[in-house]
Parts: sequence; C-alpha cells; structure tokens
Amino acid sequence: MKRTFTLVFLMAAMVTAFATKQSVSKVEPISWWVGMENPELQLLCYGNDIQNATVEIDYAGVTLTRTEKTDNPNYLFLFLNIDPSTKPGTFNIVFKNGKKKISKWAYTLNARNQGSKQRVSFGPEDAVYLLMPDRFANGDYSNDSVKGYIQGVDRSDLGKRHGGDIQGVIDHLPYIKDLGCTALWITPFFDNNDSQYSYHHYATGDYFKVDPRLGTNELYKALADSCHALGLKLILDVVPNHCGIVSYWTNDLPSKDWYHIWPTYTSSNYRMTAWTDPHAAKLDREILEKGWFSYNMPDLNLENPLLFKYLSQVYIWWLEYGGADGIRVDTYPYNNIKVASEFMKTFRNEYPNINIVGECWVKSPLEIAYYQSGNNNKDGFDSNLPSVMDFVLKDKLQEAFNERDDWDHGMAKFYAHYAQDFAYPDVNNIMNFIDNHDIDRMSGAVNRDLNKYKMSIAMLLTTRGFPQIYSGDEIMIDGIPGNYEGYRFDFPGGWKDDDHNAFTAEGRTTEENEVFNYMRKLLNFRKSCTALQTGKMTQFIPYDGIYVFSRYDDNSRILIIFNNSVNDQLVSLDRYKELFEGSTTGTEIITGKQIDFTTKLSMPAKTAYVIKIIES
Ligand code: CA
Repeated sequence: MKRTFTLVFLMAAMVTAFATKQSVSKVEPISWWVGMENPELQLLCYGNDIQNATVEIDYAGVTLTRTEKTDNPNYLFLFLNIDPSTKPGTFNIVFKNGKKKISKWAYTLNARNQGSKQRVSFGPEDAVYLLMPDRFANGDYSNDSVKGYIQGVDRSDLGKRHGGDIQGVIDHLPYIKDLGCTALWITPFFDNNDSQYSYHHYATGDYFKVDPRLGTNELYKALADSCHALGLKLILDVVPNHCGIVSYWTNDLPSKDWYHIWPTYTSSNYRMTAWTDPHAAKLDREILEKGWFSYNMPDLNLENPLLFKYLSQVYIWWLEYGGADGIRVDTYPYNNIKVASEFMKTFRNEYPNINIVGECWVKSPLEIAYYQSGNNNKDGFDSNLPSVMDFVLKDKLQEAFNERDDWDHGMAKFYAHYAQDFAYPDVNNIMNFIDNHDIDRMSGAVNRDLNKYKMSIAMLLTTRGFPQIYSGDEIMIDGIPGNYEGYRFDFPGGWKDDDHNAFTAEGRTTEENEVFNYMRKLLNFRKSCTALQTGKMTQFIPYDGIYVFSRYDDNSRILIIFNNSVNDQLVSLDRYKELFEGSTTGTEIITGKQIDFTTKLSMPAKTAYVIKIIES
C-alpha cells in the first residue's frame, strides 16, 4: 500500500513538473525573408509558461530589438530587425530561464525571389476566374479523407466536403486559359478541421498550412508556378475579419482581447452602411464590427497591434512563399475600416504595384466609391483598396433583362447606374460579376432564358471595369436561390465518376456549348482589345429597350447595342453617329457579320451586338 501511495505521489509530482515545464511549441511566421521593405519581423512564440523566458539570437544582421508579453503566460512576442545585409540562412532562437536553456528553435530566413517586390498585379486588362477548390475538381482522391481530420467526403450533402483540391485546379488551368480568363482567384485553402462546413475554408485553423484535404504548401506554390507558366495571374483571398473556431487560439487566447468576446453570442448586424452613415449610432457600428460573422468564425480584434502584425505577416508570407500576384479582401467593412485600411497599407508597402480588390458589399455606387482608394472622401478616409466590386451592377444584371423597359426599368437601370460613375476615382479598376459564391446564380435570375443570359454576359464583358467569372457561369450552371450551398454546385466533370463533363466540348450539352462559346469568344476578343479594358465609355439614353454605348481608345472603337425588347426591332443608327464618326461599317464579334451603319439594323428580340468599328 505504502509503495502504491509513493508511486501515485511521484506521478502527481511528475505531472506538476511537466505542467510547469517551460517549452516552445510554435514560432510564427514559420520562416521569413531577408530584404523585405519592412525590416521588422514579429514572432509569435507559443509554449507552456514561455512568457518569462529570456531569448538570445546570435546571427549577423539579426537584432532582437524588444519582446512583448500579453496577459497569457504561454505567449511571448519577439521583434527582430532584419538588416538588408543579412545572409539568408538558419539560426537558433534560444529560450532560457536564467542560465538554463529551455529550448532552441531553428529559424530560417530565405532569399527573396527576384522581382518579388515589383511583381505585376491584375487589373483592368484581366478577366478573373473565381472558383472554390472543394467544388471545382478532384485531382487527388488520396486526400479525400485524411487521418485526424473530422470531415471526409460526402458529395450527397451540399454542406459537406466534396473532395475537390488544388491538384484539380492545376489540372484544369489550360481550360481556364482557353476560356479566355487571365487571372485566377481561388477561395481560401488554409487548414480547417471543423466538424461542419469546413469545405469553404473561410474559417482558418492554421494560417501556415494548406489543409491536407486540399493539398500541401508546396502544391499551392506549384499552382502559382503553373499559373505563371500559362500566363495566368493568381489572386490570394485575404480574410482579416475572422478565423476559425477550431484554432489553438480558441482554447488558449494569445490575449483576452484577441477575439471580440461578448457576454453572449452576438452576431454582426451585417449593415455595412453604418460606416458611411453620418448619422450612425455607435452601438450599430460596434455590432457591425465586433459581432461575429457566424458561430464558427470568431471575430478578430484587428485593433490589437500584435494580432494586426501577425495577420499581416501571414498574408505577406503567402505572397512571398507562393508568389500570388494580387489580393482579394473578404468582408472588408466588417473590420474597423480605419484599421482595415492600415492593414492594406502593409501589403502596398511591401508590393508597390499590387492590386487589392475589396469585398465591400454595399448598396449604392456612392458607398462603393467611398471604398476605392483615391476617392478624396470628405472624412479623409482612404481604404487603400485600389479596386472595389460592383455589387450594385450585379443587381441590375440580375434584374434588367427580365423587365419591360420604361423610365426606370430594363436598360434604363444600366444607363442610370453608369451615369453615377462620376463617383469613382478609377472606374476601370472595378470588378464586375453576374454572380459569385455568395450570391444567387444568374441562371436562376433569368429563369434559364438563354437570350437573357447571353445579354448579361455581353454586358459583363464590355462595360467599364473588368469581369469576374464565377466557375460555372460559362455553362449557365444551376443553383438553388437563397442559400450559400445552393451557389456552390460542383463543376460537372471535375470528378471521375461524373457522367457529365463540361470541361470538354464533347462533354458539354448543346446549351452549355452555346453559352461557353459565346463567353469564350467575347473573353478572347476582350483580351486583345484595349478599348474594352481601359477605354472610355459613351452611353445613350435608352428608348424602347434599345440601349447603345461605346468603348473606345486610340486603338479601336467598339459599339455595343442591346435590344431588351420582347420584339425584333429595326434600329436606325443615325442617332448614334457620334460613336462611329468617319466610318460606315463594323464587324459583329460573335457572328462575324458585317454591319452597315447607313442602313437600319435588324435586331432580334433580347439580343446584344458587340461591333468593332472598321476604321476607314
Ligand atoms: Ca481530393
């Protein structure tokens, strides 16, 4: 009996010793680079009772300038100055308790890739293809379920994982290029071992690891390299508002204010208007900013400078490591927008040419323009977002072709919308779309009417700004209105047991080919037509469903004519002659037909013509 008691006592003592033993289990970012614009590197060190450790670094060019503690003894933040003369290599970070060494951590500084800082980004010349990796193509069946990860594959359930992955994206890059897109935006791919809805990856568990069900860090880099080899640009999805509930942070917060914690669960009011509304109540702004996006996505307190720097370094790490060319920012106005702006500045500081398109889902051009950098807002706010998304145009696109034209409906909606472009500092750097992964599919909005659908594509690909195509748009893919999963159907043919393969002309239905070929023709025309990329725009007031505008620059003039009427119409072009002055003919891009501007133009009901003016 006595022996047993001794053993139990000893075991308890060992457990206590273990519990208090200082250790280091994480240092993040997991590596860094020499020669970054900002020479200061912040390292988050996580480990049992690590806060009171002393730290030594002995490496030429690297200076530990200061350390910072939080209210949690398991975290210690180090600030290193990396002199530009530092040689790339690996050194030890030595953690000590007095003279006793607790731990040493090998840390690597890499050399930057040539041209990293000056990388060329996406812009008005591009057409962006958006896809969600889990829903696009399964290129690796061996990663469908991974040991230690809760969710495997269940394609029968729209809310569960379907098995698509980064390899599937790499495999189909030639398809995306052939369609005529020049840039690729994939939704997030970070580790997320949640028990539900893990497929969308907007809830991050580990920022420095590609989820093994999507691939590996090396495979993400291979994706960027494969894009570049094909002349495609890659866009990184940056999420500054929230992380995933399944994170080591959740059980052991780096500091009490790391997340916005409420006495009871409080969701955001999602009313982004509160930032621009001069009459907004403080409480509404607070709930907009600090309320959670959903239960499984803790709201990050970006006003905590340690978190701010941590997260900024996360995305700089991925830009530097993976080599993406630009940024899309998720839920920008769900942050304190002044802090979000400073956050964007850290990227523009490191990469002076980088384009950043912000998701500011607001309801009027005035509000969208407020978020475009350079807007000279009355309150002095500058978002540091060179590009914004035209959510209002999306509404018009989903409505107008269903409507009878009158003063306010049908084509008048576009006319009135573009008339408000005076609000924007850079109207060509606006991203347009007919739908995306958070919105009802266009196919449903026009009730699968092929003519209306084609008109929406014609508008998307010829108007000012640049287009974003959401995977499946090119085949008029179905959806279910009103719920997220209903916007995220698998791309047909992405799985080997799919009996329908829309990646090939042979596999597509007649209707799919008609949409695909229509979009492909216009996208490829746009690719070499600077007038459609950066040209000016002139529009005429629509009458009787006929709406005419032109895009033009020194290289070419393009005439775009819509007949939104349910009747065929004979259109006299005389009224529009200022758009084709000095010319009498043009070529319609889709049909290749010659158009004579001196006679009446026969336009079938619900059609759009895109006409390149033949200069005499
Ligand atoms: Ca897979």
